[in-house]
Amino acid sequence: MQFSKIRLTGFKSFVDPTELIISDGLTGVVGPNGCGKSNLLEALRWVMGENRPTAMRGGGMEDVIFAGAASRPARNFAEVMLTLDNSERLAPAGFNDADTLEVVRRITRDAGSAYKTNGKEARARDVQMLFADASTGAHSPALVRQGQISELINAKPKSRRRVLEEAAGISGLYQRRHEAELK
Ligand code: ATP
Ligand code: MG
Repeated sequence: MQFSKIRLTGFKSFVDPTELIISDGLTGVVGPNGCGKSNLLEALRWVMGENRPTAMRGGGMEDVIFAGAASRPARNFAEVMLTLDNSERLAPAGFNDADTLEVVRRITRDAGSAYKTNGKEARARDVQMLFADASTGAHSPALVRQGQISELINAKPKSRRRVLEEAAGISGLYQRRHEAELK
């Protein structure tokens, strides 16, 4: 499965709906400091189920909602839609009924997050598992934040191992085992 498009609405600095087509090959995003490059990567992480505000450089989950600027009032919700190419039908069971897979996450002030996959309501866990199994999850080592390389070098063995497990595509299994142990 390949990302083919991401659309941000009211997410951080992307107040107006902004669509980015992700074509085959390398996509580069360039721009001056503070123009929103990192916000874009955070949107990708967020739509895949990231739930740690610190990973989004915020204090609370609602900090991803456009907070207003001198000329624009704040928004009440933020939404990110990620479109995946599923023409090879590689999506896991339950998500594999069309040539494209559309994952939407929306957060509304005081009402929390809601997810949809191909227009149907979904649970956060389903979306997280979908991407964890595809090894592209919110914690995937394939998404490298600014400063993360030095963090990794200084990391304790346990957290370094978690990165390797995610890369090996087995973190979904660990998550399921953890949940089974809690039951
Ligand atoms: P650099 O090149 O310095 O890494 P960047 O292109 O990665 O910059 P970002 O960090 O993505 O830039 O964007 C930061 C901008 O996003 C800041 O101007 C900040 O005010 C704005 N921003 C972040 N959160 C919000 C929010 N909730 N509402 C409005 N603007 C926000
Ligand atoms: Mg940046």
